[in-house]
Amino acid sequence: MNIILFGPPGAGKGTQAKKLQDEFNILHLSTGDIFRAAIKNETPLGVKVKSILDAGELVPDQTVVDLVADELSKEKYNDGYILDGFPRTVVQAEAFDKFLRDNDDELDAFISLSVPEQELINRILSRGEGRSDDTEEKVKTRLEVYRKETKPVMDYYQKQDKVQEINGLGSIDEIFERIKNALD
Ligand code: ADP
Repeated sequence: MNIILFGPPGAGKGTQAKKLQDEFNILHLSTGDIFRAAIKNETPLGVKVKSILDAGELVPDQTVVDLVADELSKEKYNDGYILDGFPRTVVQAEAFDKFLRDNDDELDAFISLSVPEQELINRILSRGEGRSDDTEEKVKTRLEVYRKETKPVMDYYQKQDKVQEINGLGSIDEIFERIKNALD
């Protein structure tokens, strides 16, 4: 089963993706986690993307697409995956569609978590993960980038009739139940 978990920053994608990973035995792939690990380990990729993440902007499409294609080609993803943070632009979504076609594979679900903007800001500012992009100013930038660049990804999948919108307000377990119901 291949799933895209979609939503604005702070919607709870990472939290729910981890629960899905445990429940369905498919792997969670977070592009943000990969970039943060690369930055921490000062790899060439990390050096390249550090200032971009710090600013709350987007890593160039080709960099992300190559990274995801490489990663998903590993055998450990054969039973499926949950994408968190990708695709984040329509260009990435088109590239991912091509990747699926080339691999004779398909997308099983596009789950979109919706959460009101003020709640997103509150969550991010209070989660205290120490992320350099979790300041009020950077959060505003990230939300703006989301509206401009990422929201259109949802329209893209809407055209394929794939979008399932989930209310992202409630307890972690309540939201997880809603996602499971949507996947059934
Ligand atoms: P959040 O959903 O809270 O914004 P992520 O961990 O998904 O956090 O992403 C953190 C940062 O990593 C983004 O602000 C962006 O700079 C970079 N990033 C992650 N995924 C992508 C992507 N698919 N395309 C471009 N940049 C990305």
